[in-house]
Amino acid sequence: MSAPACRLCGAELTHTFVDLGMSPPCEAILEAGQLDRGETFYPLHVRICPQCLLVQLPAYIPAEEIFTHYAYFSSYSDSWVAHAKAFVDGAADRLGLHAGSFVVEVASNDGYLLQHVVARGVRCLGIEPAANVAQAALDKGIPTEVRFLGETTGAEVAAANGRADLVVANNVFAHVPDIVDFAKGLRALVADDGYVSIEIPHLLRLVEGREYDTIYHEHYSYLSLLTTQRVLAAAGLTVVDVDELPTHGGSLRTWSTPAENAGAPSAAVAKVLADEAAAGLHTLEGHAGFSEVVADVRNDLVEFLVECSRKGAKVAGYGAPGKGNTLLNHCGIRSDLLAFTVDRNPFKHGKFLPGTHIPVHPVERLAEEKPDYVLILPWNLRTEIAAQLEYVGEWGGQLVVPLPSLEIVHPGR
Ligand SMILES: [Zn+2]
Repeated sequence: MSAPACRLCGAELTHTFVDLGMSPPCEAILEAGQLDRGETFYPLHVRICPQCLLVQLPAYIPAEEIFTHYAYFSSYSDSWVAHAKAFVDGAADRLGLHAGSFVVEVASNDGYLLQHVVARGVRCLGIEPAANVAQAALDKGIPTEVRFLGETTGAEVAAANGRADLVVANNVFAHVPDIVDFAKGLRALVADDGYVSIEIPHLLRLVEGREYDTIYHEHYSYLSLLTTQRVLAAAGLTVVDVDELPTHGGSLRTWSTPAENAGAPSAAVAKVLADEAAAGLHTLEGHAGFSEVVADVRNDLVEFLVECSRKGAKVAGYGAPGKGNTLLNHCGIRSDLLAFTVDRNPFKHGKFLPGTHIPVHPVERLAEEKPDYVLILPWNLRTEIAAQLEYVGEWGGQLVVPLPSLEIVHPGR
């Protein structure tokens, strides 16, 4: 059987970055009535292209199956909404956005970001493929089209609404199978003197922070600045600046503009590229060794949970993020080792995590059950969550963070 083809350059994907085995789609949360049925598991076999170095998961599941009824509402995370507000304020200053400007956000979710654009009196439009999530934005008075972005959609939206001074695509770029067509859609949406702002989890941080649970089926590409530049260049966009962000375990926000208008890239671009090169991310050989790192993380977590089980210590989870499901499925952790988890999103209450069938309850359940340990699954929000869970210390409970190395944390810190 021939290897799959690279989604950027078309070369054969003959090299493995890491193979996490088989897992169900991480957002396919289950109702009680589905527990006695079979579930479909797909490979989580991440490849690296030997030609262009794009680290990628072949599209084992089509995006239409995942994103048309997406369960994630961005507004349920306080820190995420605050991050969006800071972004809008910063972008408005940077680009001098005014009442006559036009902002388009792709994958606008429930309007968590564009609500801050509306508040500034700037015209905006959201493009969001999940109808149920888009409806939440429309309910807030944020114009939203229910569509997937590609070159054709981008041209149609631009023809109907004009081209944008700012196109925002936060945490979606890595989540589209046909990333080149998506990038061409961004180019179609943006004015010739406009900017495209993209946030992506940074491959460098994934490798350094051992963040292997950020690998899941919806996450098709694992981007460095180098490979991001290559994808955008294929659509006529040039990266002129980059910000390094702490979000999602370490992200990049790239600023690009149509190539014909781009000046020399900033010093920040050169700095990030140099960091990547030093970490080996600009060669094929430099990407080796991640499988061993992943095995270490798994061994430590499973050893801890087995020891808790031997001692009779009760362990619950906090959060039901997609990344939690990669970790739990890869480690083979089920409700015998993690009794239940809790989440602030009421949509998930009374349901069960895919593959592992761990029940999801409201957060109040922690105070009722008083577990000895609470495993924080969205570790990227550990500071916010540790503060929220200060009360776990009242019954002597402790918090556990699985990555980058297993760590026991006292609540409130
Ligand atoms: Zn390639």
